[in-house]
Amino acid sequence: MNIILMGLPGAGKGTQAERIVEEFQIPHVSTGDMFRAAVKNETKLGLEAKSYMDQGLLVPDEITIGIVRERLGNDDCKNGFLLDGFPRTVPQAEALTETLKEMGQSIDHVINIQVSRDVLIQRLTGRWICPVCGSSYHTLFHPPKEAGICDKDGGKLYQRDDDKSEVVTQRLDVNIAQAQPLIDYYAQQGLLRNIDGEQEIDAVFAEIASILRG
Ligand SMILES: [Zn+2]
Repeated sequence: MNIILMGLPGAGKGTQAERIVEEFQIPHVSTGDMFRAAVKNETKLGLEAKSYMDQGLLVPDEITIGIVRERLGNDDCKNGFLLDGFPRTVPQAEALTETLKEMGQSIDHVINIQVSRDVLIQRLTGRWICPVCGSSYHTLFHPPKEAGICDKDGGKLYQRDDDKSEVVTQRLDVNIAQAQPLIDYYAQQGLLRNIDGEQEIDAVFAEIASILRG
């Protein structure tokens, strides 16, 4: 079972990835892990990728795809894999399709966890921190008893710059714009499975599992 997992920041992709990997016993293949492993093991491609990253440059697609190919050729991917964070662009997706074809494989499902922009913004901007004790709160998931005040010491909660609405919204809109062509590509291929990510975590997983069980 070869799966790609997609979802914007705040959609709950990490949580669902953990559950899928556990339930279906396939490896979680994330771009970050792949790169770290290739660099650590000093593979030819890993060293090439590192030379770009060290200069603060984007790693070219052909190197990234080479690293993905090596990873997917490992024994633990024999019964499938969960790709996370790759592909990011349509050219990468096309290259992945080709690479898999050469390996006699293909993608079975592209799981896209959908959450509206407004809800994502609420989730991503909800974090507030106490300057006194460092406790972290979330207006949706873990609100303080009194708004804006730390439960433990009465400290006046503040937001990190990264969690502020303007920064979050800007970053999110870039992500949305980047994801759309990829979503269109996989929809055209008949592989896209949209999941309602605004449900409870268990309900989201139940929907994913029923698709994967076919
Ligand atoms: Zn506190």
